Amino acid sequence: MSHPECIRDGSFHFRLFFFQEIAQRMWSQLQQHPPSPLVELPDYRWQAAGVRLLIKRDDYLAPAPGDPFCGNKWRKLKYNLLHAREQPYNALLSFGGAYSNHIAALASAGRWLGYPTIGVIRGEEVHNHTLSRAREDGMQLIFVSRTDFRAYSGLADYWQQRFPGAYVLPEGGSNELALPGCAELAQEVYQQLGDCWPTVLAVACGTGGTLTGMARGIRPLCGPQAVGPKPQLMGVSVLKGRFMTQAVHDRMATLEADTCWPHWHIEEDFHQGGYAKTTPALLHFMAEMEQLHGLLLDPVYTSKLLFGLFSLLAQGRFEAGSTVVAVHSGGLQGRMPVQ
Ligand SMILES: *Cc1c(COP(=O)(O)O)cnc(C)c1O
Repeated sequence: MSHPECIRDGSFHFRLFFFQEIAQRMWSQLQQHPPSPLVELPDYRWQAAGVRLLIKRDDYLAPAPGDPFCGNKWRKLKYNLLHAREQPYNALLSFGGAYSNHIAALASAGRWLGYPTIGVIRGEEVHNHTLSRAREDGMQLIFVSRTDFRAYSGLADYWQQRFPGAYVLPEGGSNELALPGCAELAQEVYQQLGDCWPTVLAVACGTGGTLTGMARGIRPLCGPQAVGPKPQLMGVSVLKGRFMTQAVHDRMATLEADTCWPHWHIEEDFHQGGYAKTTPALLHFMAEMEQLHGLLLDPVYTSKLLFGLFSLLAQGRFEAGSTVVAVHSGGLQGRMPVQ
């Protein structure tokens, strides 16, 4: 049966063409984009100590300014999306809390690329910026109780049956295919420093997936023939409970032996009371970074990373002459006030 009203409606065809065009551009942007900027933060405390602090601006890695598909979520989704494209998947599905940057990023990526998206959200329905943005981006939200979430969020098969044809990503997007994108992040830093590693390469850790991928990126560029200093990979945990070191060990143990750079550690003392918790000192620090340097940080991840690095500098943990690179992993959509 033909749909003459459809054929006559030129705007329909124009819109279809327009969306295909956008998706096409997005795919090529995913495959080849310039490295995100690496810029020095000219802060008097670091200058006085003779230590360089550089910020890897992955928050600029986004299809449009302010888009939640950015930062380390861009890095982690990149190869997942390219993989999904090669298969007959017709939707993207994943899991997360009500403030999950991963959920917001997936919803936006789906919209840019023309995939329907499904978000399975932990806990009772709440109204906040993250979820309304995900809804605007066309995501179908399914709220499940905390108990059910614990039981079902790991059950890819269950969701696969409920949504046949959906590509199912784990909570936080931390699967095997998340690693190569994060490896590229580390390798970009090396290239931008003129084929040289910084003394310390630091990133905020939620699941530790990004750090693990970075450890994989460092390893091949630190062989016996490599010149220059060997980097210390530092994770700053944003969760309470001192379990991140073990979690990263466990994550790395599931990978092939010897693919990860072994010189990494986790700073477990800068969580400020736990996930998404803040302290007056942290909020003051965020405001200071914005006023002094115009540097916007998010309250959940990047502020705790930078706050941690400034604290370690004050403790004399970095030697004069060393270079510290901190990854601005994005997350700025989390700055929006709760509605
Ligand atoms: C999700 C997120 C992280 C944590 O990444 P993991 O790979 O889970 O450790 C760090 N920073 C930002 C801005 C994030 O959104």
